[in-house]
Amino acid sequence: LATRLPAVGTTVFTRMSSLAAEHDAVNLGQGFPDFACDPKLVEMVAEAMRAGHNQYPPMTGAPALRQAIAAKIAALYGHAYDANAEITVTAGATQALTTAILAVVHPGDEVIVIEPAYDSYMPAVELAGGVVVPVQMALDDAGYHMPWDRVAAAVTPRTRLIVVNTPHNPTGSVLRDADLQVLADIVRGTGILVLSDEVYEHMVYDGHRHASISRHPVLAARSFVVSSFGKTYHTTGWKIGYVAAPAPLMVEFRKVHQYNVFSVNAPMQHGIAAYMANPAPYLELPAFYQRKRDLFRAGLAGSRFELLPADGTYFQCVRYGAISAMPEAAFAEWLTTEIKVAAIPVSPFYRQARESGIVRFCFAKKDETLALALGRLARI
Ligand code: PMP
Ligand code: GLN
Repeated sequence: LATRLPAVGTTVFTRMSSLAAEHDAVNLGQGFPDFACDPKLVEMVAEAMRAGHNQYPPMTGAPALRQAIAAKIAALYGHAYDANAEITVTAGATQALTTAILAVVHPGDEVIVIEPAYDSYMPAVELAGGVVVPVQMALDDAGYHMPWDRVAAAVTPRTRLIVVNTPHNPTGSVLRDADLQVLADIVRGTGILVLSDEVYEHMVYDGHRHASISRHPVLAARSFVVSSFGKTYHTTGWKIGYVAAPAPLMVEFRKVHQYNVFSVNAPMQHGIAAYMANPAPYLELPAFYQRKRDLFRAGLAGSRFELLPADGTYFQCVRYGAISAMPEAAFAEWLTTEIKVAAIPVSPFYRQARESGIVRFCFAKKDETLALALGRLARI
């Protein structure tokens, strides 16, 4: 069979989680919390089921949830999306990202993807017949930096889309407000669209605010902004997310969405809509995860791992050059099988694997899980 995706195998997250389970390792690889979500949220979903929300919801998403999402974005980022025409509820961020790409990328269109990149973007561009134009982040002693000059240089008349991700998986770097203006300057006078993956929007640390693309009116007018309740509410297994975009873009998005999935889980949409009435859970998230980040960093401070900055997300990248010269995938496997702590190599986040001597740990774990892992990592 001629494959549509010759470069694609099984994702690194699936592989490392299987290896962690097989070797009884503490799994700091795949990004998901090992603690429970709020029981009140579970109760609200159960209540929605008892109330009879068990049939197809509208294709675009339950109105109550779309309104809650629009109200949240308006309150936090100051952009008023029309809940009917400009918000669609999706089966997680993954579906929103792939559907947006399929909706706007025509065969031969170029899509600029900043590497290291979350693994779903490039295969989606390839399925659409688009051409991936990878642009690598700069990496120096101080960590990863947005390569805006290289992004500007990569723009051609065929550029259809630029994919950005802030806070950024796997590097933990974040855009600041000034970056939004730089991006706006790059796309000014072109027809280039922006796809902004903001699933870690509530994990920005040290008192900074999240630089959502929707804060910048000129960018918002040409962007899809994607988020996921899986990250925000500690429910990665629920696979509910959303996309916000101006109406003309959303018309195209929905043409694909209706045949991609049609609509997504009704009782969870109603439960989440009710839960969103209280902003505290997401407003408290930066402090909640910053404490875990600091605990994890403190635990590694005296070790032979070198900590890179972690300004956002629930990931911590480390250099391991003082421990080993192994390639990243081999080192992550060794950590998992011998040290019994699973990590994710960064190399698969590049189209052509690049070795930087860096692996990623997820700190969205119970304190005791982090303590167990740190005890093992600090001894290496
Ligand atoms: N984008 C990024 C950057 C992610 O880290 C993830 C979660 N792994 C996703 C998208 C997918 O989110 P979801 O689980 O809601 O599909
Ligand atoms: N986003 C998660 C991570 O980066 C994994 C999601 C997945 O397994 N596809 O670890």
